[in-house]
Amino acid sequence: EARRADVLASIIKTSDDAIFSKTLDGTITSWNAGAERLYGYAAPEVLGRSVSLLIPPGQAGELDSILERLRRGEHVDHYETERVRKDGSRVNVSLTVSPVEGEGGRVVGASVIARDITGRLRAEAERARLLGQERRLRAEAEEASRLKDEFLATVSHELRTPLTAIQGWALLLNSGQLDDAAARRAAAVIERNARAQKQIINDLLDVSRFISGKMRLEVERVALGRVVAEAVEAVRLAAQAKGIEIEGPGADQPDVHVSGDPDRLQQIVWNLLTNAVKFTPQGGRVAVALTERDGHAEISVSDTGCGIAPDFLPYVFDRFRQADGSTTREHGGLGLGLAIVRHLVELHGGTVRAESEGSGSGCVFTVRLPLLRDAERGLRIDEGKDGGRIDEGYEIRNPSPAFLSGLRVLVVDDDAETLALLRTMLAGRGAEVSAASSAGEALAALERDGADVLVSDIGMPGGDGYELIRRVRAGEAAAGLPAARRVPALALTAYARAEDSVRALAEGFQAHLAKPVEPAELWRAVARLGRGLGV
Ligand code: ADP
Repeated sequence: EARRADVLASIIKTSDDAIFSKTLDGTITSWNAGAERLYGYAAPEVLGRSVSLLIPPGQAGELDSILERLRRGEHVDHYETERVRKDGSRVNVSLTVSPVEGEGGRVVGASVIARDITGRLRAEAERARLLGQERRLRAEAEEASRLKDEFLATVSHELRTPLTAIQGWALLLNSGQLDDAAARRAAAVIERNARAQKQIINDLLDVSRFISGKMRLEVERVALGRVVAEAVEAVRLAAQAKGIEIEGPGADQPDVHVSGDPDRLQQIVWNLLTNAVKFTPQGGRVAVALTERDGHAEISVSDTGCGIAPDFLPYVFDRFRQADGSTTREHGGLGLGLAIVRHLVELHGGTVRAESEGSGSGCVFTVRLPLLRDAERGLRIDEGKDGGRIDEGYEIRNPSPAFLSGLRVLVVDDDAETLALLRTMLAGRGAEVSAASSAGEALAALERDGADVLVSDIGMPGGDGYELIRRVRAGEAAAGLPAARRVPALALTAYARAEDSVRALAEGFQAHLAKPVEPAELWRAVARLGRGLGV
């Protein structure tokens, strides 16, 4: 009997759990090392005292109900609650309380086993948090994926719409059924729709540049008046077609100068104007104003159109956001224009805001850009006429038919139609054009006849444009040609991302243009390369 008691005592003593006993009125009668570790009290400090010292204030009722159950001979199993340690800190415990019987089977007290479950509860809370987070992220991912699907559907719709017109009119042109006037109209429709499509693709690329932080500005001193006037000119036709007059800033007002990228600034105004025209009904009014206000240039574009509902107003500048994203909407677009506007304005250190009294009452978009500092203005004002746009001499709108005369251009493209188009464009301005449809043919032609400028596609079966230029440069190096006598080369590709351009230059091209290329851009690039100016 005595040995059995010794064994039990030793088990209790070495147990990790806190084990103690108490009388039915709650007086502590034994206290093991585990209890000391858990609660911080040594045995002499608690023996003879009431367990209520372990109970947090306000939970005394809990002790009463446990004692009550014990008196009835009941067990309390894995009861999870909170207790107070000697240092006042709280600990989460799981309690198992069993009645202890004395002589005659009468309940005389209770044993308590308490286990610290703080770690377990913390792990459970952490798991619940992770689960919640996982659910939230999954919901976000699902929403993103839904938006992406919706976006792809919109993109393909927006790309198809102009394509339908292009294909239809091209078929009619080909059938030979159109008289001269109709054929000219058909060609104009095709051109306009191709431009619209290019615009969509450019917007997509711009957005991808923003996202990857690769948008670069070519900053110079810019006269905003001219930027605004050019943007107005660019949308005037579309506006007139809807019977909308655009009121621009008067020609007599003093010009406002900022530091920025003229093309991007024009894109900002153009986007706002296109929207104003798009969302304003027949016969409405669109006005652009340019003013100077507290150190800033302010461009405001207002319209008398459909306006923007207050609940949509905070989101107008978000990517892919449109007041009406449904398939039945009456206006096309990808919902990127304003996101591009905001990003470009911010890159210029400015702000843009939208105001509208609500649906039906038109709206006003205001762009604020920091003015060029006076000192800077004084310094730069003498440089060239009009602020010295570097490429002023090459801003060509209608170059003479002999613009490229005397230049021998070798054009390389595996697509016969593109080759024919490039040949026609270049020959139309006087260049002497020869054509090759593969890298191999091009190398042979260069060896045989040489060229003043090489214009090459990149993606071609057999050897691509990169390989071509590598072999050309290797041949020139082997022949010991000085840099000035190496053939200047222009890469022309449908890959229009910044990294494509960087790669083309790294491989040995001097310039890179994205397809579809504007004739004027091509002429300008070929002229500069052919005259040793670089692009
Ligand atoms: P998109 O024009 O391709 O839809 P934007 O980013 O340019 O994309 O415009 C986003 C949305 O903002 C439009 O779909 C339209 O709901 C609203 N919005 C933009 N400009 C105007 C405006 N001038 N009048 C009314 N609503 C406009």
